[in-house]
Amino acid sequence: MSRCIGCGAKIQTTNPEKIGYVPEIAIIERGEQVYCKRCYDIRHHNALYTPEYDTKMYYDKIKNIKDENALVILMIDIMDIFGGFIPNLSEYIGNNKVLIVVNKIDVLPKSVNIKKFEELISLISKRKKLNVVGIMMISARKQDVIARISKLKYAAKKKYSHEKEVRFDNCYIIGCASVGKSTFMNMIGKITLNYPSDVITTSNQYQTTQDFIKWPLDQRSYLIDTPGFINPSHYGAYIDNKSLQVLIPKKYIKVRTYQLNPDQTIFIGGLAKIKFDGENKINVSFYISNELYLHRTKTIQADKILETQQFKLLVPPYTEEEALKLNEKTVYNYEITGTSDIFISGIGFIHITSEKCNVEVQVPKPILVEKIDGFM
Ligand code: GDP
Repeated sequence: MSRCIGCGAKIQTTNPEKIGYVPEIAIIERGEQVYCKRCYDIRHHNALYTPEYDTKMYYDKIKNIKDENALVILMIDIMDIFGGFIPNLSEYIGNNKVLIVVNKIDVLPKSVNIKKFEELISLISKRKKLNVVGIMMISARKQDVIARISKLKYAAKKKYSHEKEVRFDNCYIIGCASVGKSTFMNMIGKITLNYPSDVITTSNQYQTTQDFIKWPLDQRSYLIDTPGFINPSHYGAYIDNKSLQVLIPKKYIKVRTYQLNPDQTIFIGGLAKIKFDGENKINVSFYISNELYLHRTKTIQADKILETQQFKLLVPPYTEEEALKLNEKTVYNYEITGTSDIFISGIGFIHITSEKCNVEVQVPKPILVEKIDGFM
């Protein structure tokens, strides 16, 4: 069965509307090394596609990893470190070794201490009961970690011996949608395997990779790119591509800082509402996409602003259809004394400093929100 070299979908020549379609003439002309119509359209025309969201299908795809002796690279987006841990992952990958690769560190401003992130990720991974053998902070656009994979894979059988022990067979790259798995594979392809260009289709859209894409690691084993997990606790599971483009930082973040008086509210587009209250001054810095609109107002006027500005100033979401999926809201109440960071899955994080204040974060119910005290 041949597969699309860009997304791993099984090739079919009968239905142009379905995944994996390739016109017969393309197969006659190019043989097995073909891109499907969907990949062709994304690569050449920036076409947009709606993903078919299905958690069960995802788990079915990865569930056999637990029966192998594999290395799992869990790739996490630096902007969503809590959401990056796929729920119940250990059930599907078993006790296999996990190398956590935290990607897109290039979007963080230089003032951010990356070491702090590494420590926090190490803490979260312990809670998740994963057999973590290392954490790497990278930018897949610039770095290749094949040397690290090789170091983990082969060990000298005895001191000073040339005989090598092979510690695992296949290496799977796993992670949520759009964390940069395919970009990472392409970088390895270009640097290590001498592929002339990006073979795998990458895009800011969800579910570009449809199925496993296998590249030889050595004579017996493969490096395998896997489809992305669409995390229900991330905005990306509910909004369309236009909104998603606004959320994902494309280049380094310009931090937006506010000095707030009590009784002020900040809207993050139409996605979240944060109310600040208390007796002291409050310093708030937003580490979010530069394209995401922030609107500050007095709390007393917040309802009116929402009523009149939804889908106008307060975007994304841009459509009623998306808003409907995000309709049910939940509120997190925090008392902050000193400094705290609030992480909102899909948006980024907010650094707050105050002698004492109350913060009320209103988000759609499924969205993951975590607060860490004294983090930065
Ligand atoms: P996948 O769905 O996990 O395979 O993710 P892709 O490789 O398709 O990447 C998703 C988006 O993130 C694309 O627009 C990439 O250009 C972008 N991306 C990938 N790696 C990096 C990185 O290191 N830094 C930044 N800023 N963006 C990246």
